[in-house]
Amino acid sequence: MKCVICSGEDVKEKEVEEEIRVGNDIVLVPVKVMVCMSCGERYYDRRTMKRLEEVEDKIEKKRLEVEPIGKVLKVAGII
Ligand SMILES: [Zn+2]
Repeated sequence: MKCVICSGEDVKEKEVEEEIRVGNDIVLVPVKVMVCMSCGERYYDRRTMKRLEEVEDKIEKKRLEVEPIGKVLKVAGII
């Protein structure tokens, strides 16, 4: 597989933490995706996209256990 962004040929399956937004929270979901070793571009297949949607849905319905590891903070105004 070749990277469409940088044309790099070193694209490998890697475990990454994908960030999804559920309401005001950010949830890190460990998933295996193809990652370009040159530029870091991530490639998601349909199955992974679907899994992430399912995870989001389960968290919204409180059907999946998550643990707090930090807070999501926001700067009060434009700097
Ligand atoms: Zn690339």
